[in-house]
Amino acid sequence: MPRKLVLVVVDGLTADAFEAAVATGRAPALAFLAEHGTYRRAVSVFPSLTPVCLSSIATGSLPDEHEIPHLVWYHRLERRVVEYGSSFGAIRAAGLTRSILDATVDMSARHLSAGVVTVFEALEDAGLTPATINFNPYRGRTRHRAIVPGVPPAWASRRFFFYNLFDSDATGAPLAVRRRAAGTVDTYAAAVGRWLVTRDGFDFLVYYLSDYDYASHALGPDEAAGALVATDAHVASLLAAAGGPEAFLERYDVVLCSDHGQSAVVQTTRLRTAFAGLDVIVTASNRAGMVYRLAGCHEDNRSLASRLDGDPAIGVALFREDGSAVARRDGEELRFTPADGGWQAEGDAAIMDFPDGLARAWGALANRNAGELVVSAADGFEFEDLGGRHHAGGGSHGSLATSDSLVPMLTVGTHPPPVSITGVAPLVLSHFELLPG
Ligand SMILES: [Zn+2]
Repeated sequence: MPRKLVLVVVDGLTADAFEAAVATGRAPALAFLAEHGTYRRAVSVFPSLTPVCLSSIATGSLPDEHEIPHLVWYHRLERRVVEYGSSFGAIRAAGLTRSILDATVDMSARHLSAGVVTVFEALEDAGLTPATINFNPYRGRTRHRAIVPGVPPAWASRRFFFYNLFDSDATGAPLAVRRRAAGTVDTYAAAVGRWLVTRDGFDFLVYYLSDYDYASHALGPDEAAGALVATDAHVASLLAAAGGPEAFLERYDVVLCSDHGQSAVVQTTRLRTAFAGLDVIVTASNRAGMVYRLAGCHEDNRSLASRLDGDPAIGVALFREDGSAVARRDGEELRFTPADGGWQAEGDAAIMDFPDGLARAWGALANRNAGELVVSAADGFEFEDLGGRHHAGGGSHGSLATSDSLVPMLTVGTHPPPVSITGVAPLVLSHFELLPG
């Protein structure tokens, strides 16, 4: 019988910040795990934004398969913008009630492709008990009724805890969302986590901590070390619930990673300005943007991309043409197509000098919910969201750039760490001997 497994996901934790915290002793719980495990830097997906990344972690696929394209995107069938929570201003602009429903229920229930299987579904099908805390997408095989009236029921893991909207068991955890900046979300997660570990109430636990990303957005990734101390304490309290760090590792194997990195924001820009007067929808947030052509738009993809030539905020503009992908920056182009397990590329390769750049860009572009144009911001730049909000002076992520894309990946007891966050789901399935072959 495989050992039980705990997946810890620290939102927005860069590989640099993880390594520094472990080396300086500022994060003793993370250091303890690192000491007993195998560590490497891994790569995120593109756009490197939480809904896209967590969908890749849960399903082992790139966005072309799981179909979650961005933090904010245009739903062609429903002819409306889906906004998962770029900022309060952005969700108010997109429609408050609609956005909350999109972010809490519909992303997992309706937007995540029916063609992919989550690890939670796979484990429950095998008779195992997965448990998730605040992780989205959470799609599983057990139907849960919401605690809050008016929120529809959700299919999730056997044990399912989600910001006090859903609690499969009464744990006595404090309210999650009342005072976000004061760290109440992770305090809730930690209370639920302790309850679950104390009872050994799962085979696979996903312990998702998001307050660090929140702090790093506000302060910038180089100034968020203080917030990591709080995150470390939440990991320590999980270990303590098993009777201490050694006792924890006697009972559980561990995977610890983040979903994406972050980079410092110096300047912000409004992506839609370049497309004024055209029949297009522009969805931009953090360091990624999409442009969707509507019926009345008579410009082709290349012409739309060329409107961004010379703009210092643009790292690269991507579009598809005749079965290939094209990356464009300042009028220079790289055309690339998958071929024989690798890539056939033609043009200026320097344009796509990003970690695993071609595969990640292809995975973003081939998503049927993506815009015709997918834009990655240049270093130091961020795109204002629907509400005009940004993180100037702080941190952001979403682009193909190294700073947004590299994450810490640590495994303890189980298989070696995967090279990409898309390797987490296969690792979990393989750990529980659920992969064929
Ligand atoms: Zn973030």
